[in-house]
Amino acid sequence: MSKRDYYEVLGVGKSASADEIKKAYRKLALQYHPDKNPGNKEAEEKFKEAAEAYDVLSNADKRAQYDRFGHAANAGSANGGYGGYGPQGGMRMEDIFQNFGDIFGNSDMFGNMFGGGGGGGRRQGSRGANLRIKLKMDYAEIANGANKKIKVKKHITCQQCTGSGARDKNSMQTCGTCGGSGQVRRVTNTFLGQMQTVTTCPTCNGEGSTITHKCGNCKGEGRVYGEETLNLDIPAGVQDGMQLSMHGRGNAGERGGPPGDLLLVIEEEKHEHLTRRDLDVVYQLHISFPEAVLGMQAEVPTIDGKAKIKIPAGTQSGKIFRLKGKGFPAFQSYEKGDELVEVNVWSPQNLTNEEKDMLEKLKNSPNFKPGADARKDKDERGFFDKIKDAFH
Ligand SMILES: [Zn+2]
Ligand SMILES: [Zn+2]
Repeated sequence: MSKRDYYEVLGVGKSASADEIKKAYRKLALQYHPDKNPGNKEAEEKFKEAAEAYDVLSNADKRAQYDRFGHAANAGSANGGYGGYGPQGGMRMEDIFQNFGDIFGNSDMFGNMFGGGGGGGRRQGSRGANLRIKLKMDYAEIANGANKKIKVKKHITCQQCTGSGARDKNSMQTCGTCGGSGQVRRVTNTFLGQMQTVTTCPTCNGEGSTITHKCGNCKGEGRVYGEETLNLDIPAGVQDGMQLSMHGRGNAGERGGPPGDLLLVIEEEKHEHLTRRDLDVVYQLHISFPEAVLGMQAEVPTIDGKAKIKIPAGTQSGKIFRLKGKGFPAFQSYEKGDELVEVNVWSPQNLTNEEKDMLEKLKNSPNFKPGADARKDKDERGFFDKIKDAFH
Protein backbone atom coordinates (compact mmCIF):
# COMPACT_ATOMS: atom_id res chain seq x y z
CA MET A 1 0.00 0.00 0.00
CA SER A 2 1.52 3.30 -1.02
CA LYS A 3 1.58 5.97 1.61
CA ARG A 4 -0.72 8.93 1.32
CA ASP A 5 0.70 12.40 1.28
CA TYR A 6 0.81 13.78 4.84
CA TYR A 7 -0.82 17.06 3.83
CA GLU A 8 -3.58 15.13 2.14
CA VAL A 9 -4.05 12.97 5.25
CA LEU A 10 -4.61 16.02 7.41
CA GLY A 11 -6.55 17.81 4.65
CA VAL A 12 -4.42 20.94 4.69
CA GLY A 13 -2.45 22.84 2.04
CA LYS A 14 1.35 22.70 1.67
CA SER A 15 1.64 26.16 3.14
CA ALA A 16 -0.54 25.43 6.18
CA SER A 17 0.54 27.11 9.41
CA ALA A 18 1.47 25.16 12.51
CA ASP A 19 -1.83 26.18 14.03
CA GLU A 20 -3.85 24.96 11.06
CA ILE A 21 -2.02 21.61 11.16
CA LYS A 22 -2.75 21.24 14.86
CA LYS A 23 -6.44 22.03 14.39
CA ALA A 24 -6.76 19.61 11.50
CA TYR A 25 -5.14 16.82 13.48
CA ARG A 26 -7.26 17.50 16.53
CA LYS A 27 -10.38 17.08 14.47
CA LEU A 28 -9.23 13.78 12.96
CA ALA A 29 -7.97 12.43 16.28
CA LEU A 30 -11.39 12.95 17.83
CA GLN A 31 -13.20 11.55 14.83
CA TYR A 32 -11.18 8.34 14.65
CA HIS A 33 -10.39 7.90 18.35
CA PRO A 34 -10.56 4.16 19.25
CA ASP A 35 -12.90 4.83 22.16
CA LYS A 36 -15.42 6.32 19.74
CA ASN A 37 -14.96 3.53 17.20
CA PRO A 38 -14.57 0.31 19.17
CA GLY A 39 -13.44 -2.61 17.01
CA ASN A 40 -13.34 -0.50 13.87
CA LYS A 41 -10.05 -1.38 12.13
CA GLU A 42 -10.40 1.24 9.44
CA ALA A 43 -10.87 3.99 12.00
CA GLU A 44 -7.83 2.75 13.87
CA GLU A 45 -5.72 2.90 10.70
CA LYS A 46 -6.94 6.41 9.98
CA PHE A 47 -6.21 7.37 13.58
CA LYS A 48 -2.64 6.13 13.27
CA GLU A 49 -2.17 7.66 9.84
CA ALA A 50 -3.22 11.07 11.14
CA ALA A 51 -0.90 10.74 14.14
CA GLU A 52 2.06 9.94 11.92
CA ALA A 53 1.30 12.81 9.55
CA TYR A 54 0.98 15.16 12.48
CA ASP A 55 4.20 13.87 14.05
CA VAL A 56 6.12 14.85 10.93
CA LEU A 57 4.35 18.06 9.93
CA SER A 58 4.29 19.50 13.45
CA ASN A 59 8.08 19.33 13.67
CA ALA A 60 9.86 22.02 11.62
CA ASP A 61 12.91 19.86 10.83
CA LYS A 62 10.94 16.77 9.89
CA ARG A 63 8.54 18.86 7.84
CA ALA A 64 11.39 20.50 5.90
CA GLN A 65 12.89 17.07 5.13
CA TYR A 66 9.52 15.73 4.11
CA ASP A 67 8.96 18.71 1.81
CA ARG A 68 12.29 18.02 0.07
CA PHE A 69 12.32 14.23 -0.11
CA GLY A 70 8.77 13.10 0.47
CA HIS A 71 8.31 9.73 2.18
CA ALA A 72 11.81 8.74 1.05
CA ALA A 73 13.12 10.92 3.87
CA ASN A 74 11.80 8.31 6.27
CA ALA A 75 13.34 5.35 4.44
CA GLY A 76 16.66 5.54 6.22
CA SER A 77 15.15 5.93 9.62
CA ALA A 78 17.94 3.93 11.24
CA ASN A 79 20.39 6.64 10.22
CA GLY A 80 18.24 9.55 11.18
CA GLY A 81 15.26 10.41 9.08
CA TYR A 82 12.28 10.95 11.30
CA GLY A 83 13.15 8.17 13.66
CA GLY A 84 11.52 4.75 13.54
CA TYR A 85 7.84 4.14 13.87
CA GLY A 86 8.05 0.61 15.16
CA PRO A 87 8.19 -2.66 13.25
CA GLN A 88 4.96 -2.20 11.32
CA GLY A 89 5.98 1.23 10.17
CA GLY A 90 3.15 2.85 12.08
CA MET A 91 3.30 4.78 15.30
CA ARG A 92 2.72 2.94 18.54
CA MET A 93 -0.56 3.73 20.26
CA GLU A 94 1.19 4.65 23.50
CA ASP A 95 3.24 7.29 21.69
CA ILE A 96 0.16 8.71 20.07
CA PHE A 97 -1.65 9.04 23.36
CA GLN A 98 1.41 10.50 24.99
CA ASN A 99 1.46 13.32 22.46
CA PHE A 100 -2.10 14.25 23.27
CA GLY A 101 -0.94 16.50 26.07
CA ASP A 102 0.26 18.98 23.43
CA ILE A 103 -2.80 18.78 21.29
CA PHE A 104 -5.56 18.99 23.79
CA GLY A 105 -3.88 20.73 26.68
CA ASN A 106 -3.84 19.22 30.11
CA SER A 107 -7.36 19.92 31.22
CA ASP A 108 -8.79 17.19 33.44
CA MET A 109 -11.40 16.26 30.94
CA PHE A 110 -8.95 15.43 28.19
CA GLY A 111 -6.42 14.01 30.57
CA ASN A 112 -8.95 11.45 31.76
CA MET A 113 -10.45 10.92 28.37
CA PHE A 114 -7.27 9.59 26.86
CA GLY A 115 -5.27 8.68 29.89
CA GLY A 116 -5.79 4.94 29.91
CA GLY A 117 -6.91 4.48 26.32
CA GLY A 118 -3.63 3.14 25.02
CA GLY A 119 -3.38 -0.03 27.02
CA GLY A 120 -2.92 0.10 30.77
CA GLY A 121 -4.34 -3.00 32.35
CA ARG A 122 -4.22 -4.25 35.89
CA ARG A 123 -2.01 -2.55 38.35
CA GLN A 124 -0.30 -4.14 41.32
CA GLY A 125 0.12 -2.66 44.78
CA SER A 126 2.55 0.20 45.19
CA ARG A 127 6.29 -0.22 44.78
CA GLY A 128 8.49 -0.79 47.83
CA ALA A 129 10.76 2.00 49.02
CA ASN A 130 14.44 2.03 48.18
CA LEU A 131 16.69 0.79 50.95
CA ARG A 132 19.94 2.63 51.60
CA ILE A 133 22.67 1.03 53.67
CA LYS A 134 26.31 1.70 54.43
CA LEU A 135 28.75 -1.08 53.70
CA LYS A 136 32.19 -1.19 55.31
CA MET A 137 34.97 -2.62 53.18
CA ASP A 138 38.65 -3.04 53.95
CA TYR A 139 41.50 -2.62 51.46
CA ALA A 140 41.74 -6.30 50.55
CA GLU A 141 37.99 -6.52 49.90
CA ILE A 142 38.10 -3.43 47.72
CA ALA A 143 41.09 -4.72 45.76
CA ASN A 144 39.67 -8.19 45.14
CA GLY A 145 35.92 -7.72 45.27
CA ALA A 146 34.01 -9.35 48.08
CA ASN A 147 31.05 -11.48 48.93
CA LYS A 148 29.30 -9.95 51.93
CA LYS A 149 26.46 -11.39 53.93
CA ILE A 150 24.67 -8.69 55.87
CA LYS A 151 21.50 -8.61 57.91
CA VAL A 152 19.14 -5.74 57.17
CA LYS A 153 15.79 -4.69 58.56
CA LYS A 154 13.30 -3.99 55.80
CA HIS A 155 9.85 -4.74 54.45
CA ILE A 156 9.74 -8.34 53.32
CA THR A 157 7.01 -10.25 51.53
CA CYS A 158 4.51 -11.77 53.98
CA GLN A 159 5.13 -15.52 53.99
CA GLN A 160 1.63 -16.34 55.20
CA CYS A 161 -0.21 -14.84 52.21
CA THR A 162 2.78 -14.79 49.83
CA GLY A 163 2.22 -11.09 49.35
CA SER A 164 -1.42 -11.12 48.33
CA GLY A 165 -2.67 -9.57 51.56
CA ALA A 166 -5.64 -11.96 51.67
CA ARG A 167 -6.33 -14.48 54.43
CA ASP A 168 -6.70 -17.34 51.94
CA LYS A 169 -7.61 -18.05 48.34
CA ASN A 170 -11.31 -17.48 48.96
CA SER A 171 -10.71 -14.09 50.51
CA MET A 172 -9.76 -12.56 47.16
CA GLN A 173 -12.60 -11.37 45.03
CA THR A 174 -12.52 -10.09 41.50
CA CYS A 175 -13.49 -6.45 41.72
CA GLY A 176 -17.18 -6.06 40.93
CA THR A 177 -16.81 -2.51 39.71
CA CYS A 178 -14.29 -3.15 36.95
CA GLY A 179 -14.62 -6.92 36.52
CA GLY A 180 -10.90 -7.39 37.26
CA SER A 181 -9.51 -5.12 34.56
CA GLY A 182 -8.54 -2.40 37.03
CA GLN A 183 -10.09 0.21 34.74
CA VAL A 184 -13.54 1.65 34.30
CA ARG A 185 -15.02 3.24 31.21
CA ARG A 186 -17.48 6.05 31.58
CA VAL A 187 -19.59 7.81 29.02
CA THR A 188 -19.27 11.55 29.31
CA ASN A 189 -21.08 14.29 27.48
CA THR A 190 -18.65 16.88 26.19
CA PHE A 191 -19.02 19.76 23.77
CA LEU A 192 -17.57 17.45 21.15
CA GLY A 193 -20.28 14.87 21.66
CA GLN A 194 -20.55 11.72 23.74
CA MET A 195 -17.16 10.29 24.66
CA GLN A 196 -15.99 7.26 26.58
CA THR A 197 -13.41 7.88 29.22
CA VAL A 198 -11.15 5.31 30.83
CA THR A 199 -9.97 5.76 34.40
CA THR A 200 -8.43 3.70 37.17
CA CYS A 201 -11.10 1.78 39.02
CA PRO A 202 -11.90 3.66 42.24
CA THR A 203 -13.02 0.51 44.08
CA CYS A 204 -9.85 -1.55 43.75
CA ASN A 205 -7.39 1.25 42.92
CA GLY A 206 -6.58 -0.52 39.67
CA GLU A 207 -5.58 -3.79 41.33
CA GLY A 208 -8.48 -5.71 39.76
CA SER A 209 -9.44 -7.52 42.94
CA THR A 210 -10.60 -6.74 46.44
CA ILE A 211 -9.87 -8.52 49.68
CA THR A 212 -12.80 -9.72 51.78
CA HIS A 213 -10.72 -11.06 54.65
CA LYS A 214 -7.29 -9.61 55.22
CA CYS A 215 -4.27 -11.73 56.09
CA GLY A 216 -3.82 -11.57 59.87
CA ASN A 217 -0.05 -11.57 59.70
CA CYS A 218 0.41 -8.48 57.49
CA LYS A 219 -3.02 -6.87 58.01
CA GLY A 220 -3.63 -6.97 54.27
CA GLU A 221 -0.45 -5.17 53.26
CA GLY A 222 1.17 -8.26 51.74
CA ARG A 223 4.44 -7.43 53.50
CA VAL A 224 5.80 -7.25 57.02
CA TYR A 225 8.72 -5.50 58.66
CA GLY A 226 11.42 -8.04 59.22
CA GLU A 227 15.02 -9.02 58.85
CA GLU A 228 16.68 -10.45 55.80
CA THR A 229 20.18 -11.68 55.18
CA LEU A 230 21.46 -10.26 51.94
CA ASN A 231 24.15 -12.06 50.04
CA LEU A 232 25.99 -9.36 48.13
CA ASP A 233 28.69 -9.66 45.52
CA ILE A 234 30.62 -6.42 45.55
CA PRO A 235 32.83 -5.88 42.51
CA ALA A 236 36.50 -4.94 42.89
CA GLY A 237 37.61 -1.33 42.69
CA VAL A 238 34.88 0.47 44.62
CA GLN A 239 35.75 3.63 46.50
CA ASP A 240 34.72 5.45 49.63
CA GLY A 241 31.37 7.18 49.10
CA MET A 242 30.55 5.24 45.94
CA GLN A 243 26.92 4.19 45.68
CA LEU A 244 25.99 0.87 44.11
CA SER A 245 22.39 0.35 43.12
CA MET A 246 21.02 -3.19 43.21
CA HIS A 247 17.80 -3.45 41.32
CA GLY A 248 14.82 -4.92 43.15
CA ARG A 249 16.62 -5.79 46.39
CA GLY A 250 15.14 -3.04 48.56
CA ASN A 251 11.86 -3.05 50.47
CA ALA A 252 9.10 -5.39 49.30
CA GLY A 253 6.13 -3.70 47.60
CA GLU A 254 2.58 -3.66 48.88
CA ARG A 255 0.40 -6.62 47.86
CA GLY A 256 2.75 -7.97 45.19
CA GLY A 257 3.92 -4.55 44.01
CA PRO A 258 7.47 -4.41 42.69
CA PRO A 259 10.28 -4.13 45.29
CA GLY A 260 12.42 -1.02 45.67
CA ASP A 261 16.13 -0.93 44.94
CA LEU A 262 18.96 -1.51 47.37
CA LEU A 263 21.43 1.36 47.45
CA LEU A 264 24.82 0.46 48.93
CA VAL A 265 27.06 3.28 50.04
CA ILE A 266 30.66 2.12 50.32
CA GLU A 267 32.60 3.05 53.44
CA GLU A 268 36.31 2.43 53.11
CA GLU A 269 37.99 1.21 56.30
CA LYS A 270 41.38 2.68 57.12
CA HIS A 271 44.41 0.39 56.82
CA GLU A 272 46.88 0.02 59.64
CA HIS A 273 49.92 0.75 57.49
CA LEU A 274 48.80 1.83 54.04
CA THR A 275 47.16 4.99 52.76
CA ARG A 276 45.17 5.17 49.56
CA ARG A 277 46.05 7.79 46.98
CA ASP A 278 43.63 7.33 44.06
CA LEU A 279 44.53 3.89 42.71
CA ASP A 280 47.92 3.80 44.44
CA VAL A 281 48.67 2.95 48.05
CA VAL A 282 51.48 4.63 49.93
CA TYR A 283 53.66 2.99 52.58
CA GLN A 284 56.14 4.87 54.77
CA LEU A 285 59.19 2.65 55.30
CA HIS A 286 61.46 3.58 58.23
CA ILE A 287 65.03 2.29 58.06
CA SER A 288 68.11 2.96 60.18
CA PHE A 289 71.04 5.08 59.09
CA PRO A 290 73.41 2.09 58.63
CA GLU A 291 70.74 0.26 56.63
CA ALA A 292 70.44 3.25 54.30
CA VAL A 293 74.19 3.40 53.91
CA LEU A 294 74.85 -0.32 53.46
CA GLY A 295 71.65 -1.33 51.71
CA MET A 296 69.18 -3.96 52.88
CA GLN A 297 66.33 -6.27 52.07
CA ALA A 298 63.09 -4.85 53.52
CA GLU A 299 59.75 -6.52 54.01
CA VAL A 300 56.80 -4.20 53.41
CA PRO A 301 53.05 -4.72 53.93
CA THR A 302 50.85 -4.69 50.83
CA ILE A 303 47.10 -4.93 50.36
CA ASP A 304 47.46 -8.70 49.98
CA GLY A 305 50.08 -9.72 52.53
CA LYS A 306 53.75 -8.84 52.38
CA ALA A 307 56.37 -8.12 49.71
CA LYS A 308 60.16 -7.96 49.74
CA ILE A 309 61.93 -4.94 48.43
CA LYS A 310 65.65 -4.30 47.90
CA ILE A 311 66.98 -1.05 49.29
CA PRO A 312 70.29 -0.42 47.51
CA ALA A 313 73.38 0.88 49.32
CA GLY A 314 73.47 4.66 49.58
CA THR A 315 69.71 5.19 49.48
CA GLN A 316 68.64 8.70 50.45
CA SER A 317 65.81 9.51 52.81
CA GLY A 318 62.70 10.46 50.79
CA LYS A 319 63.45 8.04 47.96
CA ILE A 320 60.32 6.34 46.61
CA PHE A 321 60.16 2.80 45.32
CA ARG A 322 57.26 1.60 43.23
CA LEU A 323 55.77 -1.89 43.46
CA LYS A 324 53.99 -2.26 40.14
CA GLY A 325 50.38 -3.44 40.22
CA LYS A 326 50.19 -3.65 44.02
CA GLY A 327 47.60 -0.87 44.25
CA PHE A 328 43.84 -0.88 43.68
CA PRO A 329 42.13 -1.87 40.47
CA ALA A 330 39.94 0.79 38.86
CA PHE A 331 36.20 0.10 39.01
CA GLN A 332 35.07 -1.90 35.97
CA SER A 333 38.41 -1.47 34.23
CA TYR A 334 41.71 -3.29 33.77
CA GLU A 335 43.67 -0.33 35.07
CA LYS A 336 45.60 -0.96 38.27
CA GLY A 337 47.48 1.21 40.72
CA ASP A 338 50.88 0.62 42.37
CA GLU A 339 52.25 0.59 45.88
CA LEU A 340 54.62 3.47 46.57
CA VAL A 341 57.19 2.86 49.29
CA GLU A 342 58.77 6.04 50.65
CA VAL A 343 62.05 5.60 52.51
CA ASN A 344 62.51 7.47 55.78
CA VAL A 345 65.91 7.30 57.47
CA TRP A 346 65.40 7.24 61.20
CA SER A 347 67.72 8.90 63.71
CA PRO A 348 68.08 7.19 67.10
CA GLN A 349 67.70 9.40 70.17
CA ASN A 350 69.15 7.31 72.94
CA LEU A 351 72.80 6.30 72.47
CA THR A 352 75.38 4.66 74.69
CA ASN A 353 78.74 6.35 75.12
CA GLU A 354 80.35 3.67 73.01
CA GLU A 355 77.93 4.37 70.14
CA LYS A 356 78.54 8.08 70.46
CA ASP A 357 82.31 7.54 70.15
CA MET A 358 81.86 5.50 66.98
CA LEU A 359 79.70 8.20 65.41
CA GLU A 360 82.15 10.95 66.40
CA LYS A 361 84.85 9.12 64.46
CA LEU A 362 82.60 8.73 61.39
CA LYS A 363 81.50 12.36 61.54
CA ASN A 364 84.91 13.66 60.53
CA SER A 365 85.59 11.05 57.87
CA PRO A 366 85.54 12.73 54.40
CA ASN A 367 83.07 10.13 53.02
CA PHE A 368 80.45 11.28 55.52
CA LYS A 369 80.48 14.94 54.48
CA PRO A 370 77.54 15.73 52.22
CA GLY A 371 79.09 16.19 48.80
CA ALA A 372 78.27 18.59 45.99
CA ASP A 373 75.59 16.21 44.68
CA ALA A 374 73.78 16.01 48.05
CA ARG A 375 71.36 18.74 47.15
CA LYS A 376 70.38 16.99 43.98
CA ASP A 377 70.02 13.62 45.70
CA LYS A 378 68.04 15.11 48.54
CA ASP A 379 65.39 15.96 46.02
CA GLU A 380 63.52 18.88 47.47
CA ARG A 381 60.47 18.48 45.30
CA GLY A 382 57.23 17.46 46.94
CA PHE A 383 56.27 13.85 47.44
CA PHE A 384 53.76 13.77 44.61
CA ASP A 385 56.19 15.24 42.11
CA LYS A 386 58.71 12.61 43.09
CA ILE A 387 56.38 9.66 42.66
CA LYS A 388 55.94 10.57 39.00
CA ASP A 389 59.43 9.33 38.19
CA ALA A 390 59.88 6.79 40.96
CA PHE A 391 60.40 3.33 39.53
CA HIS A 392 61.49 0.26 41.30
ZN1 LIG B 1 0.00 -11.56 54.74
ZN1 LIG C 1 -11.87 -2.53 40.24
